[in-house]
Amino acid sequence: MERVNYHTHTKRCKHATGEDEQYVQAAIDKGLIRLGFSDHAPFRDGRWAFSRMDYKQLPTYCEDIRALAKQYEDEIEIILGLEIEYDYDQLGYYDELLTVYDLDYLILAQHYFINMDDQEHSSFQITRPKDLVLYGESLIEAMETGIFAFVAHPDVMFNMYPAWDPICERVSRSILEAAQTLQIPIEFNANGLRKGLQPFIDEQRYPYPHLRFWQLATEYDVSVIINSDCHHYDEIYDAAVEKAYSIARQLGLRTVTQF
Ligand SMILES: [Zn+2]
Ligand SMILES: [Zn+2]
Repeated sequence: MERVNYHTHTKRCKHATGEDEQYVQAAIDKGLIRLGFSDHAPFRDGRWAFSRMDYKQLPTYCEDIRALAKQYEDEIEIILGLEIEYDYDQLGYYDELLTVYDLDYLILAQHYFINMDDQEHSSFQITRPKDLVLYGESLIEAMETGIFAFVAHPDVMFNMYPAWDPICERVSRSILEAAQTLQIPIEFNANGLRKGLQPFIDEQRYPYPHLRFWQLATEYDVSVIINSDCHHYDEIYDAAVEKAYSIARQLGLRTVTQF
């Protein structure tokens, strides 16, 4: 299968390291045919700036990656995107990113989500069934906009969730059904595998990807994109990515390398 990665961070997000060009060189060394940069997107109001580029860096991010794309065009295809949270208040901004900034794609990632009561939630810290339900609702609402190329780690909601219960299955199925209906690919995220197996009440498992979610996914007609979600160039196509492909193969998931 051709090697690609569409989920790549840069040091601008304040928790990744290495120069942009080192990511490109690592991708070429590993034999990737296509590399998508998708750093954590800034918002105009500066929200969550501690873990993403500053809004004023957006133009140079775009210029820098486009310059690398040109410089390396004979060796690898480089495309330009951002990983971003959906907020119903920001529809105009997503449009601006895709038209004015001319990005190739936006990845949907609900690290945080804002529900209809304007309350902010962190998807990494969900421990209650009702918050799982809210996460699922916000993700599906975002998927339905048609703005996003694919969904990053749809199962990140299980990061801290204590034990599998009927709500887990219900929310998982609602997300998978939406992915099937809308034909929007979902990502099997290698960065979750890097966090290692961790003890939960009912089992040892990765915080994400949650294999029960992906077992359910085999019952649906969904496209699965495996991405590195690298925050260092050594992770571009490392053992975690290889492991992700092998788990996906064992489960029988339909992996795709384009969207
Ligand atoms: Zn990150
Ligand atoms: Zn990411």
